[in-house]
Amino acid sequence: MDKIYKHTCDEDNPEYALQGINTRLLLAINSGQVDINLIAEKELANRGLNKKGTWIGFSSAKKEIGFTGHICPGCNSEGRETDGIVYSCPGCGGLFNTKAAPMTRDQAAKYVHTDTWHAGDQGEAEKSEDTMYFDFYIKYNGGEIGRIHGLVDRITRNLVQVG
Ligand SMILES: [Zn+2]
Repeated sequence: MDKIYKHTCDEDNPEYALQGINTRLLLAINSGQVDINLIAEKELANRGLNKKGTWIGFSSAKKEIGFTGHICPGCNSEGRETDGIVYSCPGCGGLFNTKAAPMTRDQAAKYVHTDTWHAGDQGEAEKSEDTMYFDFYIKYNGGEIGRIHGLVDRITRNLVQVG
């Protein structure tokens, strides 16, 4: 790709790129709830291209950007590798793991405060741009695996809703 992007026709003019998009999604992108850079990366991978636009094949391209085939239970988007413990979802901005690789309670506490309810203005916290989806399988000390999922306040990471 050129160092400085210059469009050559209307079809590649960024000013027109979001014209057909629905307003709800546009708001989510604008607020940072949906990461359009991640979606662009995934679209490149769906075309079998690396970040430079070179064909490397579909599975290599997906692996290169950290998509591993794990599906977000909240929105069915394909999760992205983060730190080896949770996947981040480019679709809803949520975090999740899998039953096959449960985390400990201490690990979960790094992302979400599963013992603390959000104390802020409930009306504010219920706005979707203020909350984050999570879906965690946790391995407890006794060895049993439990699932907790719902919404937390994006900033405090305290519970707003549990499913
Ligand atoms: Zn999701």
